[in-house]
Parts: sequence; C-alpha cells; structure tokens
Amino acid sequence: MTPLTRSMPGFFPADPKQALRLRRALMAVAASAVLTAVCVVCLKMGWFRGTTRDFYILFGVMWAFIVLMALTIRLGLNLRFPDPSLTLAQMGPATFFLMVVVYFIPDLRLVFIMLYLVVLLFGAFRLRLGEFFFITALAGMGYGLVIYLWSIEPGGARDVTIRLFELFGFVLMSLTFSLIGSELSRLRRTVRRQHRDLECAFQTIQEQAVTDELTGAHNRRFIMDVLTREKDLALRGGHTFSILYLDLDRFKSINDVYGHASGDLVLKRFARIVRGAIRGVDYLARMGGEEFLVLLTQSRLDGARNVAERIRLQMEATGWADINPVLKVTVSIGATEYQPYDRIEDLLQRADQALYEAKEQGRNRVMTA
Ligand code: GH3
Ligand code: MG
Ligand code: MG
Repeated sequence: MTPLTRSMPGFFPADPKQALRLRRALMAVAASAVLTAVCVVCLKMGWFRGTTRDFYILFGVMWAFIVLMALTIRLGLNLRFPDPSLTLAQMGPATFFLMVVVYFIPDLRLVFIMLYLVVLLFGAFRLRLGEFFFITALAGMGYGLVIYLWSIEPGGARDVTIRLFELFGFVLMSLTFSLIGSELSRLRRTVRRQHRDLECAFQTIQEQAVTDELTGAHNRRFIMDVLTREKDLALRGGHTFSILYLDLDRFKSINDVYGHASGDLVLKRFARIVRGAIRGVDYLARMGGEEFLVLLTQSRLDGARNVAERIRLQMEATGWADINPVLKVTVSIGATEYQPYDRIEDLLQRADQALYEAKEQGRNRVMTA
C-alpha cells in the first residue's frame, strides 16, 4: 500500500491491481493538469495559433476523456476489457492529443515532445514491442501530418527540411524508447513468472520436508514438533491427547517372501487404511521402517483404544489378492494417553512398551499403558 492509497482508504479499490490502475489514471490527471496550465499560459501569451473557442473545445474533449478513463477504472468497468489496465486506450489518445497541441503551439513543441516521452513511460512496464511500434507509428504519422499542415500554410514551406529532420529525430527517439520499454516490460514479465515458479517450488519443498515419500504420511521430524505443541497445549489446560504406536507383524517375512516392492505396497496401503480410520484433526507419521505413530488430538485412552482396535480389525479383514490370495497382514498397536508433566520421551516409551507387550502376547492385538 502506498501513502496515497492509505490516506484515502475509501476511494481506492481493495484489489491492489485496481488500486494501481487508479493511481496511474490519477497520475494522468495530474500530468494533464500541468499540460493545461502550460497551454493556458501559451493562450495568454498569444502563442496558441487557434481561437479561444478552439482552445476550449480541445481541452474540453481532453478533460472529458481523462475523467472518463479515471471513472471507468474507479467503477471497475475496465475489468470488462481484454487489457484491464487500458494502457493502449490511454496512451493512444494522449499521443494524438499531444500532436494536436503541437500543431496549435509550434513554438513549444520541444516541451510537448518531452511530455510525449512521459506518455511512453506509462507503457514501459506493460506494452509489448508491437504495441510500442503502434504508438510510435501513430505519433510519427501525427507529427508528419502536423508538419504537412504547417507546410501548406502561407510561407510555411520555408522550414520544411528542418521540420523533416525533427520528424526523423522524433521517430528515432521514439523507436529507441520502444525497444528499451518493451525490454523492460519483458523483464517484468520474466520476473513475475520466475516469482510464481519459485513460490510453487517453495511450496513443494515445504511439503516434502514434512512428508514421507512412500506413504504420504508425515515424517518423524514433523510429528515431533506436533507432539511438543500438543503437550504444551495440554499443560496449559487444553485437552489431553493420546498416541498409538503401530508396527506391522512379521513384516520382514513379507519382504523376504514376496519381495521389497510388495512390502512397499503393503506399507502404502496400510497408511491409507490408518488415514481412513482417524479424523482430519489427527496425525499419522511414519517413524521408520514399518513403524508408525498416530496422534489423536483431544482423545482419552478409551477413545484411542477404540481407534486402534478399528485399525487392527480392518487390517485383519483386508485382502492382498494382488500380492498373494492367502496373504494376511496384521498390526500390533501400543496405545497411551498423555499424562501431565510427561516428557515426549516418556510418552513414546510407554507406547513402545505397550507395543512390545502386544508383540509378546502373540501380535495382532492392541495393548494400552
Ligand atoms: P515383528 O512382528 O516383530 O515386528 O517382525 P518384523 O519382521 O516386522 O520386525 P522387524 O522390525 O525385524 O522388521 C522390519 C522390516 O521392515 C525390516 C525391513 O526389511 C523392513 N522395512 C523397513 N523399511 C522398509 C521399507 O521402506 N520398505 C520395505 N518394503 N520394507 C521395509
Ligand atoms: Mg519394527
Ligand atoms: Mg514389525
């Protein structure tokens, strides 16, 4: 937000792009005010070659257009056009108008040509080369026409060669500016694209940093952070939570008999089954190998035992026909609830101990601690 936008909060649209467009339109208003002031002085000094009526018509039309543009953007009507910034729609008429002013006030043509540079500057970050050429052609032809009109006036033919050199210099300057301007807007587009790509890459990296690639479960580092946070919350009087430690039974033999790829498949499907059995607010993490941890937020041991039992039963009921029609994969689970002033190590160790007992007692069972 710029100071101007901040100082008039109700006036500028909330959309930053629209606010920028309106600021640009207001800059055009300011530039037009300067131009009008200069021309009023010219009128007083007698440098304006038309009548006072010509002057009023000319500037009446100009101001009507300028106000129309600002209003179009303020009301959001510009969003209906292919290029909502209306860059060409503002630059084209501005160029044309400057040429008309040059015609009427030839003595100050240097001032107006420099103002034309300001007009070009408006497009520097936006227009493509072709569009710059279009504006240049418009200005070149406009200036050419002005020189022609001067030359057919009585006594006007005298300076034609000099004027043609001016036209040459003008077009040359305009072309150079177009090249540089289109390069600037190309750079701007490139930077924009790269910025978007970087954001995408950053998001991917962030996801990868907390995710186990094989199963899509969270990784150990991530779940340790979550455990710490949950512990702090519980200590501050929030809800307590429980964890499950899960270990597939005789997993080594699945690898040995059916191969590592089948083992991977089992791990993936197991993770999917667990995710289906827990709520969106719970967490599943792969702690390593075929060991997983589930964090059940706002859950007491009873609830944890139920969830664990559900997972165990579902594994028991799952067929693995694509590996072997008779294959059964079971899981042993240790469950425990967070107790005030537990350290994370205490909590994990209790769950691990319960898991060990489940294994001791014959596997495919849930034990609590
Ligand atoms: P238990 O019932 O006592 O848990 O027996 P187990 O065979 O499951 O126990 P153990 O911990 O000895 O074996 C774990 C095996 O898991 C060893 C390893 O080959 C396998 N394993 C670890 N990580 C992966 C993995 O990413 N993919 C596959 N396919 N296997 C893995
Ligand atoms: Mg193990
Ligand atoms: Mg195991």
